[in-house]
Amino acid sequence: MEICPENICTGCGACMGICPVDCISMKENKYGEQHPAIDEAVCIKCGKCRRVCPNNNESEFNMVKKCYAAWGTDKENRRKCASGGIATMISGYFIEDTGGIVFGTSYDGNLRAGVSHTDKSGGLEKLKGSKYVHGYFGRGEYKAVKDFLEKGLKVLFIGTPCQVSGLLSYMGKNYPDLYTCDLLCHGTCPSSYLKDEAAHLIGKRRHADNIRFRGNDDYDFHLSIWNGKKCLYNKKAADQPYLYGFLKGVTLRECCYSCRYARPERVADITLGDFIMLGKNKPFGYPADNVSYVTVNTKKGERLFNDISENLRDMKAVERDYTERLEYPLSIKTPSPRHPATDRFRKRYVKYGFHAAVRMTLLPEMTLEKAMRTYRKFHNMGHRILHGTDQNL
Ligand SMILES: Cc1cc2nc3c(=O)[nH]c(=O)nc-3n(C[C@H](O)[C@H](O)[C@H](O)COP(=O)(O)OP(=O)(O)OC[C@H]3O[C@@H](n4cnc5c(N)ncnc54)[C@H](O)[C@@H]3O)c2cc1C
Repeated sequence: MEICPENICTGCGACMGICPVDCISMKENKYGEQHPAIDEAVCIKCGKCRRVCPNNNESEFNMVKKCYAAWGTDKENRRKCASGGIATMISGYFIEDTGGIVFGTSYDGNLRAGVSHTDKSGGLEKLKGSKYVHGYFGRGEYKAVKDFLEKGLKVLFIGTPCQVSGLLSYMGKNYPDLYTCDLLCHGTCPSSYLKDEAAHLIGKRRHADNIRFRGNDDYDFHLSIWNGKKCLYNKKAADQPYLYGFLKGVTLRECCYSCRYARPERVADITLGDFIMLGKNKPFGYPADNVSYVTVNTKKGERLFNDISENLRDMKAVERDYTERLEYPLSIKTPSPRHPATDRFRKRYVKYGFHAAVRMTLLPEMTLEKAMRTYRKFHNMGHRILHGTDQNL
């Protein structure tokens, strides 16, 4: 039995969460993507999995009510955050001031990214930063959201829009104490790719507990692997095949190329992203680097964000027109386009595995780009010496 067509399955796991006889598990297809597999011997054919799947239902999309450029002013708290640290600040407020539970994505002991929850501000450290990989949403975490709400606790869920959509569909009704934040999302790579890459980069004998991609420090748009405070590996995107393949859209899950959530209207109460284009065409009186894009999309989201803005002294939020962010359409108006090298990469993946396939496919392009960058640098240097100005090629 097919729950939904594999090419649009986001691997949100709502089908697995709802199954009354636990006969659905997530299995890798030949391209390393996680998809639900049904144990037909146990299945009672109740059809709940098909009915809960967001792909078989119309999702409710909310119009943006207000838009903000926002960032945390505490540099140390924000250091490992992806952009302005707003996800971390909303989460901290939620735990401290409402006594609620926060769900986000962290790594487990095997460096597998997955949904987990915390009720302590200290627990937010492992949620910080964007993990540019598909996050596993296990059966237990779906149930935990419902259990906490039914015990009368408030729950905040932060994740990709397809995860939020899966969760809302699983919940089946409106829970006033469930708050959701979705991220603008370029797509995710299958978790098997990151696992394979990390295993090759650090070897079997070294232990790692974190892989970072973003930060308000020297590691922004680098792939860096960590054991506590010790950095085991660090390379910038232009020289790192996993991160380069992700950013160029070569190695994403198939569903990401036709993502139906890549639009300005949103499934969640609040949306967070990078405020690309901030101040480009309309002046912005503050530094615009690594500032978060925040929109409130429902009354509930608006109330929560207003409370936070009024109460947190170390957060700055400046209202902007949300159309400013739309000028960079990727992830907010259109999904990542399918890269011409994707099919070539996948054929090689099946034969040679991730580490070899991604290098065979991308190293020639990466080397050429590097040579072009070096040529431009020296050409400009020469131009500056001769004419006193840069010649931008
Ligand atoms: C896979 C992915 C793709 C993205 N693509 C874009 C994009 O194209 N354009 C854009 O503007 N912004 C994109 N973002 C969002 C951006 O990277 C930041 O997450 C956002 O700006 C919020 O930053 P912050 O500093 O407030 O987050 P932080 O305070 O650093 O907190 C990070 C939050 O993200 C959650 N998270 C981390 N990794 C994942 C994951 N794999 N799946 C689900 N949730 C996760 C954490 O649980 C945490 O709540 C993407 C994020 C991810 C995870």
